[in-house]
Amino acid sequence: MTISRSLFHPFAQVAQARRLVSIRRIWLSCSLGIVTLLAILIAPALAMQVQVQPTNPQLGDTISVIMSAPVPHSGASSPSPERPTVTLGQKIYPMFAISNNRYRALLPTTPLDSAGTLTLQVNAGGETQNLSVPLRNRQFPTQSIWLGEGGGPEGTDHEFDRVDAFKALVTPEKLWNGPFLRPNQGEITTVYGVQRYYNGEFAEDYYHRGVDYAAGIGSPVVTPAAGRIALVGRVEDGFELHGNTIGIDHGQGVLSIMIHLSRIDVKEGDMVQAGQRIGAVGSTGISTGPHLHWGLYVNGQSVDPVPWRYAGFE
Ligand SMILES: [Zn+2]
Repeated sequence: MTISRSLFHPFAQVAQARRLVSIRRIWLSCSLGIVTLLAILIAPALAMQVQVQPTNPQLGDTISVIMSAPVPHSGASSPSPERPTVTLGQKIYPMFAISNNRYRALLPTTPLDSAGTLTLQVNAGGETQNLSVPLRNRQFPTQSIWLGEGGGPEGTDHEFDRVDAFKALVTPEKLWNGPFLRPNQGEITTVYGVQRYYNGEFAEDYYHRGVDYAAGIGSPVVTPAAGRIALVGRVEDGFELHGNTIGIDHGQGVLSIMIHLSRIDVKEGDMVQAGQRIGAVGSTGISTGPHLHWGLYVNGQSVDPVPWRYAGFE
């Protein structure tokens, strides 16, 4: 909305009043300490407010960037604004509406990233706001693996193509609600982010892209959050490495993948609720024993599920 249009808009006074109310709210929030990082850009007709959580992220965290656009765009008469985005390095992340005039992007970080200051750009309605976010380093556990002569199965093009296509999904509707549930009751045997040495050599590109739960074959696997079943892959169809696999699309670039299953109780396209049984623990594919591997992906990267399990994301 341009300055002149907002001045001559019949609801300009209402908009002004709302802006005052929202300024008061911001002040209150700050004084309560709820909003720990708030950047305000004051311009004559546009004031973009950006909130980043967590304020002190570490490698593996998901960074939530929420932008509030105080200019009310009501009804069908207002032009639909271009979807706002967040740029980080070479990547552009879409922002999705999470409530009236509030948009969010979820930015993945991983053990392969470098700690230091991240410079984000929030782009909305022709305005750009730069933000700096400190990304803390983190030590991940390491494992040493000694491999003998000759390799095992290397996986099939079919499974890699299907898994890659699944990980690229970004669908606009948010299907999850609240913190994610534990997908299996077994003990956690390998946490997210573990790095490896193979025959004494550090594997630069490897990190454990999920969490392992050890449980007997047949132990129930439930969905950590609501979603749509977007991938079902079976050993007999070429899922040689992953074994029997279920992929769940939670929406807005958030995905779960469950691998090494003994049984699959759902089909592609099914809508599932949090806690719904979808299959059972197994040891199919490349697996050293019965366990569930749950990978949580945000915009294509495997992130630490811990913040999703406990605090959750709105
Ligand atoms: Zn695993």
